[in-house]
Amino acid sequence: MRNIDLTKLPTPCYVVDETLLKQNLEILKSVMERTGCKILLAQKAFSMYSLYPMIGEYLSGTTASSLFEAKLGYEEMGKETHIYNPAYREDDFEEILQICDHIVFNNVKQWKLFRDKVKQSNREIQCGIRINPEYAEIETNMYNPCFEGSRLGTTLADFEEGGFEGIDGLHFHTMCEQNADVLWRTLQVVEEKFGKYLHQLKWINFGGGHHITRKDYDIELLITCIMHMKNKYQVQVYLEPGEAIALNTGYLVSTVLDTLENGRSLAILDTSAACHMPDVLEMPYRPNIIHSGQPDEKRYTYRLGGPTCLAGDVIGDYSFDDPLKRGEKLVFCDMAIYSMVKNNTFNGINLPAILIQRENGEIEIVKQFNYEDFKGRLS
Ligand SMILES: *Cc1c(COP(=O)(O)O)cnc(C)c1O
Repeated sequence: MRNIDLTKLPTPCYVVDETLLKQNLEILKSVMERTGCKILLAQKAFSMYSLYPMIGEYLSGTTASSLFEAKLGYEEMGKETHIYNPAYREDDFEEILQICDHIVFNNVKQWKLFRDKVKQSNREIQCGIRINPEYAEIETNMYNPCFEGSRLGTTLADFEEGGFEGIDGLHFHTMCEQNADVLWRTLQVVEEKFGKYLHQLKWINFGGGHHITRKDYDIELLITCIMHMKNKYQVQVYLEPGEAIALNTGYLVSTVLDTLENGRSLAILDTSAACHMPDVLEMPYRPNIIHSGQPDEKRYTYRLGGPTCLAGDVIGDYSFDDPLKRGEKLVFCDMAIYSMVKNNTFNGINLPAILIQRENGEIEIVKQFNYEDFKGRLS
């Protein structure tokens, strides 16, 4: 974390570092420039739209999994606006036709249901089908769109029943936090199964799950993958990462409210796993805290928990050089992605404020929440 006077921050708060975000965007932009591919922001990972104009200087547009996300991308970034829904709602579709330029359908049945509406639209809209190549290297079913019985995407057998005439592209999304070697192996299956159809199409979308901005990511292999598909099938390649855009660019800063003992040392923070970092419980995983260690690695080990009444609202066990004190600040790392977008006010816990650290180091408060935000969605 760059120089910040933590004592001045309204906690809990997310702090997104504009400099780090730009570093990620530079990497993505260089992939676009070297290959001619287009990269979209998958908003389900990161929807902090005050940064969309800046992100739009680097990327080709946004992609969405719902009408609201599509609208947000359209209003706040403009540029290309893609959408994929596992199933479209009839009453969303008119508005989708007004704002989206690429619509991906989950299967041929969905395409047939909405194809006439697309054709009657006076806007130029390209359509695709999400395929399920039935190949993924993801261990957890929660994040594996190819597990048996998955509702996401069309298998080759279903695709070959026909009716896909008129589509412009194919879309697959079968990766999660993975490197380019997984993409390379996935493409071999995609080609083997769907390659014969690709020659007639305009684009292929490789979906998300590419950890492009991670230190050990093999960018050269990604470029090989993109150029291979582009040259062999003469298609425009799209990528739509979410995580990779804001990976390691944000923090969640919290304050210790109390410390106590019950057979071990405990601390209660003003931030909650359940409300403010739900993936800690859902994935689950253990976020890093600056200046902390694994349990017992440093002298004082604490189990950190949230301010809710949920017994399981436990963030994890961490050790520190000194005893934790009431009022002390703790900084959780990599909290820009899948945090803000998933947070909630369970148990009446306020939402974290949203802050930006600008390139000149200045901290800007983008948004603070209050009682009305909690009350407003409950009656
Ligand atoms: C979630 C999702 C993404 C982004 O995935 P990341 O793992 O955040 O890169 C892209 N496309 C689709 C269809 C998704 O569902």
